[in-house]
Amino acid sequence: MQRNPGELEFHQAVREVLDSVAPALDKHPEFAEAKIIERICEPERQIIFRVPWEDDRGEVHINRGFRVEFNSALGPYKGGLRFHPSVYLGIVKFLGFEQLFKNALTGMPIGGGKGGSDFDPKGRSDREVMRFCQSFMTELYRHIGEYTDVPAGDIGVGGREIGYLFGQYKRITNRYESGVLTGKGLSYGGAQVRREATGYGAVFFAEEMLRTAGDSIDGKRVVVSGSGNVAIYAIEKVHQLGGTVVACSDSSGYVHDDKGIDLEVLKQVKESRRQRIGQYVEHRPHATFAPGGNLWRNVPCAVAIPSATQNEIDAGDAAALIAGGCTTVVEGANMPTTPEAVRLFAEAGVRFAPGKAANAGGVAASALEMQQNASRDSWTFEYSEQRLQAVMREIHARCHATAEEYGMPGNYVAGANIDGFRRVAEAMLAQGLI
Ligand code: NDP
Repeated sequence: MQRNPGELEFHQAVREVLDSVAPALDKHPEFAEAKIIERICEPERQIIFRVPWEDDRGEVHINRGFRVEFNSALGPYKGGLRFHPSVYLGIVKFLGFEQLFKNALTGMPIGGGKGGSDFDPKGRSDREVMRFCQSFMTELYRHIGEYTDVPAGDIGVGGREIGYLFGQYKRITNRYESGVLTGKGLSYGGAQVRREATGYGAVFFAEEMLRTAGDSIDGKRVVVSGSGNVAIYAIEKVHQLGGTVVACSDSSGYVHDDKGIDLEVLKQVKESRRQRIGQYVEHRPHATFAPGGNLWRNVPCAVAIPSATQNEIDAGDAAALIAGGCTTVVEGANMPTTPEAVRLFAEAGVRFAPGKAANAGGVAASALEMQQNASRDSWTFEYSEQRLQAVMREIHARCHATAEEYGMPGNYVAGANIDGFRRVAEAMLAQGLI
């Protein structure tokens, strides 16, 4: 902590992993001898850079750009870019650290990294976003590549931003290197199901958890926070599997629609028009909008899928969810549940899936996009979805089996942390003191 002062989210993420991996260290004294813990907590490389850009009125703005290349033991650094005013080194490091173990859990050859900027795309015109992305890439391009570091999207970085970033990379390098970014549009090297993958994957994971307990999503009342990339496609898959999502949100508040969130309306409001969530009720008059409201405290559900941001469910929210009959929590976002809330869920016997397992579908689909780019191939939607589902089943099975192996059946946090850690640690050990 003294080595990384003020990086609160990074400390939280490290503590959470270290709390669980002690039994693996007992079983593998060679990890401690080689100081794997100390090495794994130190990123291989951290890049911080200036991003100057001009708005539509000609005013100059200066933002800060980040890329943290955390660990390449298993493959090229891989992880998204986040554009949000809250971004600073502590957020990027927490995300990079989580990403490393998540990527390991997919069983695919990808290392861990993350990046972003404190730029706020909200309210900016397309041309302003383009100028920002071009300036950001003008520095980032020298650090990334198909075999070194492959960024993707995250909060505030969707298809539009990836397109501008890819265009500038191509222009600067004079290389059509499709595999340098994932989450690309289908017309220029993108892969089917990448856009849907994180949300779909989280619901596939939830379905596996419920199936293992002799249950299913069919007929369940579900709440999903956020209304961005992860949330929208989590809602879509819940509805396809027979559940009903009755509330979702953005940073301005939440909407409650007891008949079930109308996905077409939601996509119109959030994806096409880039409006605020309150606009949803203009199309669904029976639904209600709670400005600034907290959906966890106010909308009871059987299954909760937090898909907005870190630390959005605190102990009070967890207590309200438990009192409302929630039996299953699946993290679509990264670290949306505080440690106290996780403890309350465990004490109440609520099934809990940590993000590094449950939201790994996005990066798994990214790795499949890289595979298609490398072979100049493109797969159908159906085949890509089958591959995604198989990966999520595999991750679930691995977390479940590892928790049992270490005497903590049903503890998906321990299962995910130990299995992810073990994979990275073994590769680091084999590659010597690097
Ligand atoms: P988007 O930017 O598409 O959507 C984020 C959503 O969460 C928006 O509705 C946003 O509302 C809301 N939100 C963001 N910050 C806050 C906040 N501080 N308070 C309340 N609401 C907030 O991002 P994604 O859907 O891509 O990402 C969501 C989460 O999932 C993140 O934790 C991300 O790291 C994680 N994730 C994403 C993956 C992906 O493939 N995209 C892969 C794995 C994990 P508003 O618009 O008002 O800000």
